[in-house]
Amino acid sequence: MPEPLIIIVSGPGGAGKGTLVDELLRLESGIWVSRSWTTRARREGEAEDAYVFVDRESFEAKIASGGFLEWTEFLGNYYGSPMPSPDDNHDVLLEIELHGAQQVKQRHPEALLVFVMPPSREEQQRRLLGRGDPQHHVEKRLRKAEDEEKLGGELADLVIVNDDLARATRELRDFVGAARASRR
Ligand code: 5GP
Repeated sequence: MPEPLIIIVSGPGGAGKGTLVDELLRLESGIWVSRSWTTRARREGEAEDAYVFVDRESFEAKIASGGFLEWTEFLGNYYGSPMPSPDDNHDVLLEIELHGAQQVKQRHPEALLVFVMPPSREEQQRRLLGRGDPQHHVEKRLRKAEDEEKLGGELADLVIVNDDLARATRELRDFVGAARASRR
């Protein structure tokens, strides 16, 4: 059986990574999505299983036991991907920020990095505010996006500008399809 592909979807908050990944999963089978751990509080209306929500102590214990493929501290909270355990015949998808993406690339140079960009700063801000994040968090995320986009553009195997969901989904699907075909 071939090794599963590792597909990393990264990009600044408000780029629409989650929506794009949901679309990919709706259309493509055989993809196992990692469920991250975080110490961030659950947002109002956010699904209970969006993350494994834990306290800092539990997160640090899992770091100490080598339980993460990658982890980072992002705007004051820990986020990390547990060691993947995909079902048979499934590729692995991680939706993570760029520092984590770099760690995965170091451990698995063959991992594929897709970087998703928001169509504009205004639209990104509108999406972030729409999620209910407080204004000062949104401002921090927008500032962080400047650096992330510069580095992301350099590291990525594919950059997708998420201005049109159907087109962006097609680009992601074509990329995954080509990677799957070339490993056969
Ligand atoms: P949010 O707080 O908006 O859910 O996530 C903040 C950022 O952390 C997003 O860019 C998201 O993709 C990223 N993120 C989510 N889970 C992980 C993870 O397990 N590891 C890393 N490195 N980043 C993550």
